[in-house]
Amino acid sequence: MPVCWLISEEGNHKPLRLPHLQTVVLGRGPETTIKDKKCSRQQVELKAECNKGYVKVKQLGLNPTSVDSVVVGKDNEVKIKPGQCLHIVNQLYPYTVQFKEDSTGSQGGTKRPRESVSGDRESQREAQSMKAAKQTEGISLSASHSDAPKRNESAGHWSQGLKTSMQDPNMQVYKDDKVVVIKDKYPKARHHWLVLPWQSIPSLKALRAEHCDLVKHMQEVADQMIQQCPDSSSVPFRTGYHAIPSMSHVHLHVISQDFDSPCLKNKKHWNSFTTDYFIESMDVVQMLETNGKVAVKEGASELLKLPLRCHMCHKELPTIPALKEHLKSHFPR
Ligand code: AMP
Ligand code: ZN
Repeated sequence: MPVCWLISEEGNHKPLRLPHLQTVVLGRGPETTIKDKKCSRQQVELKAECNKGYVKVKQLGLNPTSVDSVVVGKDNEVKIKPGQCLHIVNQLYPYTVQFKEDSTGSQGGTKRPRESVSGDRESQREAQSMKAAKQTEGISLSASHSDAPKRNESAGHWSQGLKTSMQDPNMQVYKDDKVVVIKDKYPKARHHWLVLPWQSIPSLKALRAEHCDLVKHMQEVADQMIQQCPDSSSVPFRTGYHAIPSMSHVHLHVISQDFDSPCLKNKKHWNSFTTDYFIESMDVVQMLETNGKVAVKEGASELLKLPLRCHMCHKELPTIPALKEHLKSHFPR
């Protein structure tokens, strides 16, 4: 039976284990490090159904708890699955859930198994989406994740990996006083960089009007990266953010549209870059200018389940290998 973990997207504390079918009440307190008085000490009740792959979330406190920005409502209960974002109160304190096979064989205990801290979100995503893709894409569950690190490379949780990479001179390809550009560790195309601000901003949802100049600068740096790339005359690029990011610390994807990479392995990868799940950088700037925040549409995670469709000619393809073969016609080497 998989083990369920509740992960603070801001990295405020280590993941909390949610034991199968046991209710866990969380809110303001040392366990979450939340000190905000608007958050009740008993704000949410969580119950993991590890065999079903979701967690039931019940709002106990008066102020709103939300899942993917949809308010749960006092005494109401909703389900949260991996990829969705739980805000404990008032659209603050973002959390995600993860299910991981328990390799220790133990059913109880509260310690995080050793192998869970190795690897990053990418390997966990791979494992989950592999399962989802199994039927439609004919991928064997025993397939190894060649891009998954063999051991933990960051001091903290995998979702904090970008914070480590952005400090690593071997990953940096550009830096100035405001931002750093790194190579994506699991590039989903021939050219794939991430632009990150030095300022600690956990995610798109934390962006406000005062970040407008910074976000514009991130865009300018992204444009420079594209300009200096010799392939940019023949291959288009896009710059944008994932609606629901996996990794903490806001990051702008700069990605060539060939999607010619062995790291692009499944439908979730594909749809995260080719549907509205990918929010254009210019749209983010515009939302910040007009609303002072970034609106992520409800049900964004559903976009990852859409059929595989070529982003160039809109042809539907049955499998990832068929799609990759098809892409060669648009982007010959
Ligand atoms: P997302 O959070 O979905 O916007 O995407 C995170 C991106 O970070 C993905 O494209 C991953 O391939 C990439 N990534 C994951 N871990 C690391 C890491 N430790 N260093 C650099 N890039 C990473
Ligand atoms: Zn096509």
